[in-house]
Amino acid sequence: MWRINGRIWIGKIRMIKTILDPEALNQIAESFSEGLTQSEMMTRMNCIRKWYFRYVKRIKKQGTFSWALLFGDAVHQMLEEYYSGAAGKVIVPAVPDFRFESDVILRPDQIDDHEYYRGLAEVLIKQHNRYWETFDNKSIIEKTEEEVEYEYRGLRLRAKVDMVLRPHKSEGIFILDHKTCSDFSLGLFAGWSFRFQFLFYAWMFWRRYGEYPAGMYVNAIKKPAERRSVKRQESVRLFLKRIEGNVILDPDKYFKRERLPFDKTTLPRFEKYTLNPIISQFEQVSGLSVETWEVLESQEYFDVMDSLLISMNSDHCWSYNRPCEFLDLCANDFQDFAAEYITMDVKHSELSK
Ligand code: SF4
Repeated sequence: MWRINGRIWIGKIRMIKTILDPEALNQIAESFSEGLTQSEMMTRMNCIRKWYFRYVKRIKKQGTFSWALLFGDAVHQMLEEYYSGAAGKVIVPAVPDFRFESDVILRPDQIDDHEYYRGLAEVLIKQHNRYWETFDNKSIIEKTEEEVEYEYRGLRLRAKVDMVLRPHKSEGIFILDHKTCSDFSLGLFAGWSFRFQFLFYAWMFWRRYGEYPAGMYVNAIKKPAERRSVKRQESVRLFLKRIEGNVILDPDKYFKRERLPFDKTTLPRFEKYTLNPIISQFEQVSGLSVETWEVLESQEYFDVMDSLLISMNSDHCWSYNRPCEFLDLCANDFQDFAAEYITMDVKHSELSK
């Protein structure tokens, strides 16, 4: 029997112990110390291996970014500034710099996109704030962009709650989540009353502060479907003017607040049937971090580690018409032949900003 590159060879029979590296166990412990967010939990539910790459190894494909995430982040910052009163009485706070990772360098064609998304944030937030003025004037805003932490079953859970408000002084508290989306179809709204993300924020608030919310609002802002006219050589500025005109003409197409009232079983049911099964999986994984690589002897143990850390769900290799950013690593047994992947400093960049 001999060992080559972590693989055990016995005669002609090759047993693959694992393609994991010994650093994995330390990195699991480090990852859990930073806490779990809803997006981390959902990533694991989609594909365990994707979770491992993103949240344990903290790797990303160099230079990649998502306009949807950057735009959503800028919109959140503007709404926070507006609703916290930090911008004074102005109806539209200044558009913040988009928070690109340090490895991103924009190509010339992306510079126009950057100008468009910044302009779009200004157009939509200006009209949004006007559209909801009456609703907002009746509401009592108790908190904005509240970072909530709660220890549950030995795990550190973290969330950023966009807003806590009473829609009217006679009503209980509601958790409000801002959401930028690409469409307002009935199918999109259908699952919101039990969507993990929304209920998790409400559950965190309830568990942390002891006050049971009366419900949730999803504050949906739709991105326009219009395309810039290449034929007419429309400039970004004129394109944004056209979009603004359309939003002013028909604002119901762009702004919607879905009210999701809770009864007294909504959050306990969420805890029992949705959250706890996910937490149980994370408990199992966090248990791995107390082992040391040297004492792991059996193939069975490596098999357990593999199933908890690097199982694949190939249904998620393509979603929303885009490849998963780790497709090349999966296709090459973790080998980064083109040296395209880099390590991030933190795993929850959304909470570190
Ligand atoms: S490429 Fe597919 S299997 Fe690999 S991490 Fe992404 S979703 Fe998972």
